[in-house]
Amino acid sequence: MKSEFRAALADGATSEKGADMADFCKQCSEELFGEDFKELAGLGDGAKLEPGNGWEALCEGCGLIIVNEAGECIKPYCPKHGEEVSA
Ligand SMILES: [Zn+2]
Ligand SMILES: [Zn+2]
Repeated sequence: MKSEFRAALADGATSEKGADMADFCKQCSEELFGEDFKELAGLGDGAKLEPGNGWEALCEGCGLIIVNEAGECIKPYCPKHGEEVSA
């Protein structure tokens, strides 16, 4: 059952735009590539952001997260970068 689901997902992903699908937050980018590619940076008008707020984005490394203007994962409960990681 599970492999069927994964196959369906992969199919959907490849039939779409392809290369544009994988974006990483600042931390994941640095972690994986040793460089910040700013793929999730500048998603909106930074001037409108309250400190500590950000935009919802999908990081291939840590999932559905909140990023700030710099594309940095600031989701408090991010499994990889959050402060409130619970088992
Ligand atoms: Zn990430
Ligand atoms: Zn994260």
